[in-house]
Amino acid sequence: MIGNRVGAALDRVISHLPAGGEVREGQAKMAEAIGTSIDRERHLVVRAGTGTGKSLAYLVPALIAKRRTVIATATKALQHQLGDKDLPALAEEIGFEFDYAVLKGRSNYLCVQRLREAKESGTQEEFSVDPPGTDTPLAESRPEQARAIAAWAQTTTTGDMAELEFEPDTRVWSSYSVSPEECPGAFHCPSGGSCFAEIARARAAEADVIVVNLHLLGAHIASAGSVLPEPEVLIIDEAHELEEILSKSLGVSISAGRLRAIAAMARASSPTARGGTPSELDEVALSVMDSASDVERLLERLGGTRIRSLADGDLAYEVELLQSRLERLDAVIRKNLTTDSGTENPKAQRAVQALSRLRNEIALLHGLSEDQVAWVEFGARPSLEIAPVDIAPILSREVFEKMTVVMTSATVPLDLGVRLGAEPDRTDELDVGSPFDFEKQALLYCAAHMPDRRSANVEEAMIEEVVALMQAAGGRTLALFTSRAVMDRVATAVRSRIELPILVQGERSKGALLSALSSEAALSLFATMGFWQGVDVPGAALSLVIIDRIPFARPDDPLMQARRDRAGAAAFRVVDLPRAASLLAQGAGRLIRTKEDRGVVAILDSRLATAGYRWELIRALPPMRRTKDRELAVEFLRTIDQEAIDLERGAEPAEGVSSPTVR
Ligand code: SF4
Repeated sequence: MIGNRVGAALDRVISHLPAGGEVREGQAKMAEAIGTSIDRERHLVVRAGTGTGKSLAYLVPALIAKRRTVIATATKALQHQLGDKDLPALAEEIGFEFDYAVLKGRSNYLCVQRLREAKESGTQEEFSVDPPGTDTPLAESRPEQARAIAAWAQTTTTGDMAELEFEPDTRVWSSYSVSPEECPGAFHCPSGGSCFAEIARARAAEADVIVVNLHLLGAHIASAGSVLPEPEVLIIDEAHELEEILSKSLGVSISAGRLRAIAAMARASSPTARGGTPSELDEVALSVMDSASDVERLLERLGGTRIRSLADGDLAYEVELLQSRLERLDAVIRKNLTTDSGTENPKAQRAVQALSRLRNEIALLHGLSEDQVAWVEFGARPSLEIAPVDIAPILSREVFEKMTVVMTSATVPLDLGVRLGAEPDRTDELDVGSPFDFEKQALLYCAAHMPDRRSANVEEAMIEEVVALMQAAGGRTLALFTSRAVMDRVATAVRSRIELPILVQGERSKGALLSALSSEAALSLFATMGFWQGVDVPGAALSLVIIDRIPFARPDDPLMQARRDRAGAAAFRVVDLPRAASLLAQGAGRLIRTKEDRGVVAILDSRLATAGYRWELIRALPPMRRTKDRELAVEFLRTIDQEAIDLERGAEPAEGVSSPTVR
């Protein structure tokens, strides 16, 4: 039995680690439970707090089991940790016998065919397919990146973009790679025999453990299992992001940018298309460009609208016109599938491939089923989205019925497996807690006296709370908002009232903002949803997390609306509440990242103190002490701030400082 052997194996692994140490209680419990789940072919959802040592807790039983395992993660950082550190250490230093591979989506690899075409045409770029709406020639925009990629291409043995010492501009990289939609496959590609993406897939097919991201897992599920070798065990880390990422992967997205990219691809697919005389191909491609502009204007007008059918109206008219133009474009490109000398034309093949996919996806609009929801997504580049209302039936069929699934994260809702389609009588739940002492390390402060969210003075009250708390903390704050407009107004007001340095989302790149928050003394950061998860700022740099409100989805969010319609009277409890609880836990989870961290999570929403559903939210949070008294939060923050200042000055920390008594 695997479960019985896990404990000794985990001991051996930990004793070999460079830092030494002991197996943590939660880690041992988790590893044993996963071993038992694999033995019995049962699904398992494990909530394991930050610092548990989750990755070894699932890697060790998976390796002992010797079953083909796929590990799916949400972030590149975790993929890197597993593929470049944990798995090599287990294989090379600790002596487990297994093969492993990291597999990424096709567009992460250098496309040998595109490189060859670029060399043949004597340029380092031909056309830009992404992002849309940019007409600047690529080589003019980032010539140094294009040259660096071309030089790296001569020596790389993997073609993996991650090997580059810089993160290439999307447009630069898109000239050296292809999307899965446009690749015709190795069999139809003249460079298929030396294709890096195909080599990576072949290597993954031989591996015992394959590390992928959730998007690639989504592509595998959407293709009914044609992207990855079928695993016996699927381990999903960072599983709290599973539902959102898979909802996107299992849906389609149509934007004006995508239409322009297709038109550009088509024009580049004919040897004569870029010459001086307008060809038939140019003419049809330009008509698709025109449609792209019309569609873009229409989508801007319809932002946020749910599309129930294409019966008539402006959208029906534009879609019909677009479809006829795309059909014509398809017919014209197909004339170029072979060149005058009779050889295959890979550019035309790729254009046809991408066009077919797009036409099939647009056709979905004509037959939307009750299981699908279509809407126009707001944004600077609006898009038409179609997604499954509920991904559970798909996951049940394609995942839970076929393999053993382990889902884990620090905040994974324990009912996630069953909610996403796992059979209840074949699914176990386990919470191994956290190695941190949240009672001592953290205080949850709810501003119960805040006015109702809809009242006129709520924003002023929020500003007053933020100022008082930030001053007590000496900055060191991550303020998370559910609305960009509210964030901007509150940031402006707070900046005018206190002198502490504040950065606001949008002022620098995300990486630069987080790097500044980690390293610049007393700095605070105001941000929105993109910063509610995946932000890891350990130490004295962060002692206060402010959350402006319980993050319920907007009432008019079309996907949520469709899910609510389906859930009927239970909609709030089964759709809105679990999502809000999960996001709230993610936001609050930014505070305590190590055993030394201390601080306050302040939630400026009185509903957390008064609403009938509040306990479902509180139970999802780490077990912090709780208070409604701002003075206690202020007192705790001042103590932590003083300690941090003392440490920065090189003084010994004061002894006996503890969390305040909470009333
Ligand atoms: S099969 Fe050909 S087109 Fe597709 S990624 Fe490989 S080299 Fe590029």
